[in-house]
Amino acid sequence: MQRIRFVSAILLFVAAIVFFLGCTEETVEKRVARLHKKMFTIDTHNDFSMWLENPNGDYGVKGGQVSFQQMHDGGLDAAFFAAYQDQGPIDPEFHRFAREYADTLIFCLKQYAEKHSDLGAVATSIEEMKALKKAGKVALFLSIENACCIGDSLPLVQYYYDQGVRMIGLTHNGNNAIADAGTTKVKLHGGLSDFGKEVIAEMNRLGIVVDLSHASRDATLQAVQVSKTPIIASHSCVFAVRELSRNLTDEEIIAIAEKGGVVHLALDAWLLRYGPDYDAASLDDFMKHLHYVIDLVGIDHVGVGSDFDGGGGLTDCKDMSEYHNLTKRLIEEGFSDEEIIKIWGGNFLRVFEAVERYAKEQR
Ligand SMILES: [Zn+2]
Repeated sequence: MQRIRFVSAILLFVAAIVFFLGCTEETVEKRVARLHKKMFTIDTHNDFSMWLENPNGDYGVKGGQVSFQQMHDGGLDAAFFAAYQDQGPIDPEFHRFAREYADTLIFCLKQYAEKHSDLGAVATSIEEMKALKKAGKVALFLSIENACCIGDSLPLVQYYYDQGVRMIGLTHNGNNAIADAGTTKVKLHGGLSDFGKEVIAEMNRLGIVVDLSHASRDATLQAVQVSKTPIIASHSCVFAVRELSRNLTDEEIIAIAEKGGVVHLALDAWLLRYGPDYDAASLDDFMKHLHYVIDLVGIDHVGVGSDFDGGGGLTDCKDMSEYHNLTKRLIEEGFSDEEIIKIWGGNFLRVFEAVERYAKEQR
């Protein structure tokens, strides 16, 4: 009888422990919410400015994937909003046009931030971004995609820094005065031009992140050598997974990582998978690229750069409001909190801190 009582007591005790653990075990949803509250989440590329400047324009890609409200809904703290433009001829007339257009897009982004100041604001430093998160607001960082607006005039690098620009992507899909693009076979400079090297030095001096998405392989490898601070790709994917001249080879990924930089993978079907069913692209495709980069160079060199409003968007992460799905997927894939924090912004912050620190030392 005593033995039965003893066994019953043990069983009761075990049942109580199981019940207690069941109650306290964190669900995936709760872990997503806790992580987004704690970590800094940063998306390094979108093309929202195109839509803002010309809402009725036909750019051949989806729009409506980016807004301060969507950032709040998806738990995104900060994003780089690019002033993007197509490459034209390398001559004074196009350079003047490019500068005017970049100025217009930057003005539109600042005006948007002012109009929605209850939700977010333009940030120009890590400190400002952190203060905004504390105040319950999102951060809009200004960037440039295709530095043709600088033309061949070095002082314009500071002109854009003074406007608040903190990242510059050297090229788009055409060669410019600074560097060769990844999508053209014409090797105008064989990578960076001499002027391009001066532009990078000036970006280093001022504290602007160097972005090599869209640049040629030679330009990327040379920029890694020339830059005094780590460089990034703001929205690129992996050539070994999806062969595309615009995606990064192992050599480029290793070079960027060895310099301490970060490859930000795009949520862009065209870059992620082979066609024709691009509409079916999902986080499954994104994960293939993510695991590839991590296997090649480790967890410290990968991040997120959606390309929303410029070709980005997946079936299960359609816009910024659905970013919790990405965090959920990272949890399901077995990533630790520490690893998720690195992917979502920790790695980029390390680069941005190095860029800010180097510029401070130059003053
Ligand atoms: Zn792009």
